[in-house]
Amino acid sequence: MIQQILFVLLAAVAIYFFTKKVMSIRRNILLGKDEALNDQPKLRWRNMFIFALGQKKMFNNPLVAVLHIFLYVGFVIINIEILEIFLDGILGTHRLFLPIIGSSLYSILISCFEILAVLVIVGCVVFLIRRNITKVNRFTKPELKGFPFRDANYILITEIVLMSLFLTMNTCDVLISWRNFFLLHSHTHYSLAELNVLFGGGIISTSLSDIIFSPAISTHALEIIERTCWWLHIAGIFAFLNYLPYSKHLHIILAFPNSFFARLNNIGQMENMPLIQKEVVLSFQPERAAEFPGDDAPMKFGAKDVKDLSWKSLMDAYSCSECGRCTAACPANQTGKKLSPRKIMMDTRDRLEEVGNNIDKHGMDFTDNKTLLGDYVSVEELRACTTCNACVEQCPILISPLNIILELRRSLVMEDSNVPNEWAMMFGNMENNQAPWKFSNEDRANWIKS
Ligand code: SF4
Ligand code: SF4
Repeated sequence: MIQQILFVLLAAVAIYFFTKKVMSIRRNILLGKDEALNDQPKLRWRNMFIFALGQKKMFNNPLVAVLHIFLYVGFVIINIEILEIFLDGILGTHRLFLPIIGSSLYSILISCFEILAVLVIVGCVVFLIRRNITKVNRFTKPELKGFPFRDANYILITEIVLMSLFLTMNTCDVLISWRNFFLLHSHTHYSLAELNVLFGGGIISTSLSDIIFSPAISTHALEIIERTCWWLHIAGIFAFLNYLPYSKHLHIILAFPNSFFARLNNIGQMENMPLIQKEVVLSFQPERAAEFPGDDAPMKFGAKDVKDLSWKSLMDAYSCSECGRCTAACPANQTGKKLSPRKIMMDTRDRLEEVGNNIDKHGMDFTDNKTLLGDYVSVEELRACTTCNACVEQCPILISPLNIILELRRSLVMEDSNVPNEWAMMFGNMENNQAPWKFSNEDRANWIKS
């Protein structure tokens, strides 16, 4: 009974804090500006299945994709097993589903979970080697120093520990189960009905039981190890649950809504600013004035801070897995410029968290005299972007770092008039001559005469 009370308390605390953090992330995302992204529902569901569930873009590198699938499928499917652990914890039972579905089916399921657990361990070890020993280039960029680097290691190590606890727990249970069974039935024939509630273990735990534990180890000692692994396993899962929203691994969850709400226009298509579009059209064709009634100028152009960005760009920031595929493909980054699209996403998330924390402490109208533009993302970074869309094309979960870059750059240019001299000359020529060159509009066709 004490164990049940402890379990319920632990679960309640873990679920409370997880829900609280999730609600604060939701609130932060909704600080962004409105953007209608609910058209074409069929295509959106398709995107979610192909890109989030099917991880299509990961298959650009099949080996990494397969290992990632091990981790992902293993993580999701093993969570089904956690349902039983959870119910056992509340009801004070032990392997609740065993008598319900029978020993044979139970062992098949446990075998599947155990195989997946081993594959998860293999995947985690390979990923740890890639990050820490072979040092894949995209994991060594400056923005990945410090916590982001440790974060990835923490999660990989935690997954290895959780899977090892799961396998050890099962292995102990197999031995305890068989020992008790033969003790009880050493002088009798046992019936099939009794066999049906015997935990025969999974394919890995039965093999390990002969290797890990010597026959000399007492059943009582095995029970202590099994209970310790059970508690550490579930406590680890609750801790993992609460760490998730602070980590890049939130993409495990957010990849799904993020792919669903991805922008569906062609990736090379930029959003026009209606007021500027009107000015341009009317400068060439003043007769179209009737098509642009009113002159309601926006309060500001582009985005200076996170609240000026669309809610989708803010969800992008929380969804980013920091994989660095965007940065690896970025021509500006490849040629030694300061710009890294991954850093843009990380900066946006960090600033959004900062704004959210300030709101929690000081209310909605706080001001800390900081902005995403300037305090997090520099002018140098923004100017380096060629708007080539390689980062958007590469992102496995349909994030657009370019959208944020464009909004920040619009603010820089339109609000702050912060442009290099060459750009200023070009803008002046476009405004006066409707062309980037400093020739009068009337002289445009002169070249035909010469
Ligand atoms: S659009 Fe900009 S940030 Fe993205 S890859 Fe191209 S240059 Fe880099
Ligand atoms: S934006 Fe996409 S590609 Fe870039 S680091 Fe984040 S998840 Fe990876």
